[in-house]
Amino acid sequence: MQDIVPLTSWPAYTGLPYIIAGPCSAETEEQVLETCLAIAASHKVSVLRAGVWKPRTRPGHFEGIGEAALPWLKKASQLTGLPITVEVATAKHVETALKHGVDILWVGARSTVNPFTVQEIAEALRGVTIPVMVKNPINPDLALWVGALERLYKSGLRQLAAIHRGFSALGEQKYRNPPQWQLALNFKSQLPQIPLFFDPSHTAGKRAFIYSLSQKALNLNYDGLMIESHRSPDEAWSDAAQQVTPRELQNILQKLCIRQESTPDREDSSYLEELRSRIDALDREMIESLAMRMRLVEDIGLFKKSHNLAIFQRERWTEIFQTRPQWAKELGLEQEIVQKIFLLIHETSINIQTETFKKNDTSNPLLQKKAEG
Ligand code: PEP
Ligand code: MN
Repeated sequence: MQDIVPLTSWPAYTGLPYIIAGPCSAETEEQVLETCLAIAASHKVSVLRAGVWKPRTRPGHFEGIGEAALPWLKKASQLTGLPITVEVATAKHVETALKHGVDILWVGARSTVNPFTVQEIAEALRGVTIPVMVKNPINPDLALWVGALERLYKSGLRQLAAIHRGFSALGEQKYRNPPQWQLALNFKSQLPQIPLFFDPSHTAGKRAFIYSLSQKALNLNYDGLMIESHRSPDEAWSDAAQQVTPRELQNILQKLCIRQESTPDREDSSYLEELRSRIDALDREMIESLAMRMRLVEDIGLFKKSHNLAIFQRERWTEIFQTRPQWAKELGLEQEIVQKIFLLIHETSINIQTETFKKNDTSNPLLQKKAEG
């Protein structure tokens, strides 16, 4: 996917971050127009969003107005001069959205999860030039997310973007869909040419977290945000708790600190470079220490083997998991992080010793006895 069109060529692009905002659902013509006009008045939003086909978890809830809402969005677009985007989940949705002149499409989290659905959408878009955004699947499966973009790419689409909206989780959580940032950052390193947006609304599920999550995304160098905004959020027909008023949206956007990838100031960048080269040296030292540690682990493995000792020794394991986090605490580090690192180191050590045991297995006196019968 080398020839992806850069975000700078997307509709109404005026700079980073690219902001998409609008109600979760189009409900009535007045609600769409009032909300969209108020959002546009801030001059901080590039694209207006609204769902017209709503994928609801259970039947019996409001499932969207459907095609009849598209002229309302078109009117909002004409009045504000801003492009519009809607979610599509079937070939019929694609055909209908294109017929009404929708500018950008998005594939929802419940569709990304299903390759048949994504393929159907991709086929319906063959030969069409339109930007398409793909939300992450509801389950944290990076390959499914990448695969959905590949299907669209194979259909000839070149204006593609991804939207990180968090992942389903069991039980009570702080966020409705915990973000699992690392997975999205892995996405970014696999597909660096695909613009990556963040949807704090569906991630948070609560409006109180929209600002902090958006700032976190900008700190991580995301290219844009998709935020749900409604003229009277508490009365919204879907996702009431996570929507903000257009005024609140404006305040959030105003407060956000936009991070740049590099600083134009030469003095600042040389300071950053110096800090980075010290980090490089420390990382190198850490890796050298790790390599030295693993050589000792191998020696211990040989010793255990020749003395017929078990690889896993519970007392030693307990000692490691008590002392290391304690050392971390003394140095002002989070104990939990050091615990995680040592779990991995311990697992690797066990693997190394298992390999040591396997080598020249006949030298193991027990096995030898068996072999002799
Ligand atoms: C939406 O953006 O309206 C939506 C349904 O989101 P998601 O697919 O992320 O649940
Ligand atoms: Mn929603």
